[in-house]
Amino acid sequence: MIRFDEIKYERPDFDLLKAKAAKVEEAVRAGATFEEIDKLNDELQEYANHCLTLATYIYIQNYIDGTREDIAEEAANVMGQLALSNVPTLNEAILNSPYREHFEEKNGKFYVESMEKQNDLFKSGEEYAVREQEILTQIHKFASELEFDYEGEKVSASKLGTLKNSMDREVRRKARHAERQGFADNGEEFGRLLGELIEVRHNLAVANGFENYLEYVDVKMERFSYGEKELREYCENVKKIILPIVEKCYKALQKRLGLEEYTTDDTDIFFTDGNAMPIQGDLDFALDKIQEMYDDMSPVLGNNFRRMRENGYLQLDYSDKKVTGIAFTVEMPEPKVPFIYANYLGTGDVLNSIIHESGHAMQHQLSMDKYENQELHSQVQDLSEVPSKTMELISIEYADLFFGKDADKYKKGTLTDILDEISSYLKWFEFETFIYENPKASAQERIDKFNELYALYMPGVKIMDEDLMAKGAALYKGFNIFGMPRYVITYSLCNLSAVYLANEFKKDKKKGAELFIKLGEIGGTMDYNDAIAYMGLKSSFSEEVIREVGHYLESDLEL
Ligand SMILES: [Zn+2]
Repeated sequence: MIRFDEIKYERPDFDLLKAKAAKVEEAVRAGATFEEIDKLNDELQEYANHCLTLATYIYIQNYIDGTREDIAEEAANVMGQLALSNVPTLNEAILNSPYREHFEEKNGKFYVESMEKQNDLFKSGEEYAVREQEILTQIHKFASELEFDYEGEKVSASKLGTLKNSMDREVRRKARHAERQGFADNGEEFGRLLGELIEVRHNLAVANGFENYLEYVDVKMERFSYGEKELREYCENVKKIILPIVEKCYKALQKRLGLEEYTTDDTDIFFTDGNAMPIQGDLDFALDKIQEMYDDMSPVLGNNFRRMRENGYLQLDYSDKKVTGIAFTVEMPEPKVPFIYANYLGTGDVLNSIIHESGHAMQHQLSMDKYENQELHSQVQDLSEVPSKTMELISIEYADLFFGKDADKYKKGTLTDILDEISSYLKWFEFETFIYENPKASAQERIDKFNELYALYMPGVKIMDEDLMAKGAALYKGFNIFGMPRYVITYSLCNLSAVYLANEFKKDKKKGAELFIKLGEIGGTMDYNDAIAYMGLKSSFSEEVIREVGHYLESDLEL
């Protein structure tokens, strides 16, 4: 296999890529033999893999050296062209041809179903789709230009970010107040933009024959074997079973932090003396331990990790030139290997995110080894965080290796985070149900609804700055979520399934590792619900599973 540092970059020829796609389309429309079409399709795939590999390579280089303007420009250019290289008419031609059945045999039923259903989303109402993007850009621009008044000084959101989580309670109280003030002061404009966004999305859904936007967006999220009914049932079960555990967790945090009263100024702080630290802060130590973990789990996983490391597909070492605060995994389809980026500071938090990314990488590798079609390598969104979150949880079983005396801290920090992700995102899910079923609700009605849910999902926590909350301080702070409707429940579902899988691993290591591999090999061939059934697990929407997960969290968090 080619090493990462041996890859030679040249700009991909996107015209050639489009020409190859056009050839396939012509052959399909002309009724060529399946063999002929397959051959042309293989050529297209091969060149698409080449283009994607080089585009990904330059995208990575832009993160490795954020100071090089020429690379930044090239990466933006190439990624833009890659996004436009999709030929929707090719999909349409395949769907309406006798070749379809043969194509389905090769790529699976789900893939073709998805092609067809995604087509249905853009049949009409193009003006609404365009307007939706314009409004989202406006919201983003408006929010990114906000300045906050902190101690008589104008500060940016990122400056406030560090202060908000200060160990000094007075500092974080003032910072969180400043943030709420900023969003409340601009609440009217946010309210107007959000109102228009809801209206446009509703019109887009109706124009394409859907009853409301929720039905529309579930299709977009590739939820085919389940939908609103199951998601709502899930939400009710989490409220009933998980929220009382969340309340206990807040009480335990309050005690640990030694606070007389636990308020919205204290959330997200887990330890008075900071989060867990690894035994040694150097990268080689971290990677040796991750290797030990995978070798112990299964030879397949151990070899996958070793191969990435030995061939330079892990770019994790600290550098001033690197973009910080982000870690990601991408696949390199030509050498058939995933790549992980991070900027390792030697802290437990970044180590945890590297372990998280390695879970994504394992999934990609397992799917790459199984499917020719590059589009089958990534999982549907509702499933995509299961491998990564499962690895975070499995790493708890190996915490002694990484963290020594801080092992318990790592375990509690990770589990508290997971408990929070299972429950807190659901307030957004319920909020979205309200706004898209009531597209004519007023801005104040939306704020009131959100605040009601905000309090409900933080049981026993005192809400601060109620006057600012009434002007939308908390709702508009979540503006990023407006850009990903019906998406954040994904985090909840994935965390829940991850706990379930990690529990299987805890009970029986061999069976747990086999399940993890089975999950990785599913790739993009199934939706979430079908995948869970395929793995032989009980439905995540059921009360029984949520109870089991609740029990695991409660006992491991010692609540
Ligand atoms: Zn992830």
